[in-house]
Amino acid sequence: MKLKTYLNAEIQRSKELAFQDPKKSFELAKEACELSKIHNLEIEEGLALFQMAYACRVMSQYSEGLNLAFRSLDIMKKNQHIKGIYKAKNIIGIIYFYFGAMTDALENFMSALSMIDEEEDFNLMSSLLNNIGEVYREAEAYVEATKYYNQALDICLRHNLNINASAIYLNLGEIAYQERHYSESNDYMQKGYALLLDENRVLELGEAETKIGRALVAQGLYDQAKVIFLSALSKLNSIENKYYLIDLLIEMAKLDQRVNHSPMRNLNEALSLASEQGLVIKEVKIYEKISSYYESKGDFAKALAYYKRFHLKQSEVEASNLSKRLEIISVEFDYYKEKRENLKFRQMTARLEREIESYNRSLESIRSQNQELLKESLYDELTKILNRRGLEKAYQELFENNSKLQLAVLIVDIDRFKGYNDTWGHVKGDSCLVRIAEEMSKNFKHAIIARYGGEEFLIIVQVDDFEKVSQLAERFRENVQTLGIQASIDEERVVTVSVGGYYGTLDKNALLSAIEVADKELYKAKDSGRNKVRISKEIHW
Ligand code: GH3
Ligand code: MG
Ligand code: MG
Repeated sequence: MKLKTYLNAEIQRSKELAFQDPKKSFELAKEACELSKIHNLEIEEGLALFQMAYACRVMSQYSEGLNLAFRSLDIMKKNQHIKGIYKAKNIIGIIYFYFGAMTDALENFMSALSMIDEEEDFNLMSSLLNNIGEVYREAEAYVEATKYYNQALDICLRHNLNINASAIYLNLGEIAYQERHYSESNDYMQKGYALLLDENRVLELGEAETKIGRALVAQGLYDQAKVIFLSALSKLNSIENKYYLIDLLIEMAKLDQRVNHSPMRNLNEALSLASEQGLVIKEVKIYEKISSYYESKGDFAKALAYYKRFHLKQSEVEASNLSKRLEIISVEFDYYKEKRENLKFRQMTARLEREIESYNRSLESIRSQNQELLKESLYDELTKILNRRGLEKAYQELFENNSKLQLAVLIVDIDRFKGYNDTWGHVKGDSCLVRIAEEMSKNFKHAIIARYGGEEFLIIVQVDDFEKVSQLAERFRENVQTLGIQASIDEERVVTVSVGGYYGTLDKNALLSAIEVADKELYKAKDSGRNKVRISKEIHW
């Protein structure tokens, strides 16, 4: 009898420590588990196993957690310990949820829910309803999700479960945010936040403030957002757990960009935290943001460099998801094998085969998506020729074997294109751009052809004498005119182009200088009446 009391006290201590010190919590529960086993105290063993599983979950050791939860479930079933059964099912559901096995998660949550009586365990009942809401939210079934969240909320409010109620308000706020109902989202977040104020929960407060700030940014309320972000920053900086600090820094970077500040300080800090903590999914997100920031700044070399890192990390995530899924299946495998549940075992084998097959398929599709993405990031969507980034890359590749080359760099600009757009509209304007691009590809074989800006194109072609360049450019100018694209309603004029160029010896760092010269020539061509070619010969920089 004394031993039982001791064990229960130890399990209780393990429970209390689960969040603050999961390692210690695990150790205590493990000790209790071993002792109960020796003395054949099955219920205590089951409870201890549950606490061990719980601690594993907090430490993100999911497959170990699943294994322990299964063992707890078995013991509780054998002893008809209802509370033990539904608690084990809840944690099993949570682990499945984490692995993205949503059907299994839902099955466990629902089955646990059907065993619970609200009066007896309103705490777990509200958690279960909230977890079911989470499954639906993950599936973007927001109506169902809201229904379950509200049921959970109702219970929490009736029983003064402030921390749970607050988490549910934040979830409801998240749905509103996803649906772009920002002020509704803000209201929910504020309610959740208010409930936390009396509880002195620094982590939760910081998370709530981050979300409130994010909704404020979405509404354009930048000053208010800044104040609340700073408040979150001091909270989240003060605690060990850096997960939410990274989220905050990402949101702060977003705000920076909205008010035309550089987001890089916050993004770099977020990045170094994420890599310190091995949070690969966050790293992926941050690399993507840095890449698109540099792209928006026109720094395409850096944009490309970060884009590459983004891709590498993303493949890493895919690979580790795969191995986690297989890990969890092997836990289930052992579980059912041990129990000689033949039917289950066969089902598992079939499922394993299906998983592997589906993963092979999705890896294949990821590979081809990556190819597509890479292409998209180098080509102009409208004209299908290279964009600036593609141009830069193709130019660098020219110099793989030579440090200097004889090149012509030509800028093509459509004459009075604004007028064309005003007359025929942007859709026709777009098709005109496409036709000019096609004509360019016909006239300049083996050249790098890119869309440089709105209605400006760039051609880089390797030729060994100036005369040839002039002839090529002249013929292209004539061929555009011959297309006979009517430029205006009341004049006979057709669409023409002006060409400015530079011809000479270039190395891999000289592209911009060459473009500058070509641009000056283009202006001369425009000044001298348009529909002209002007190319300047080798100058020494
Ligand atoms: P200029 O002969 O001096 O070059 O006169 P312009 O009117 O062509 O020159 P300007 O640079 O003033 O105008 C360029 C116009 O190109 C402005 C815009 O209407 C049009 N434009 C730029 N990008 C696109 C695009 O992607 N699609 C369409 N349809 N029009 C574009
Ligand atoms: Mg122009
Ligand atoms: Mg123009």
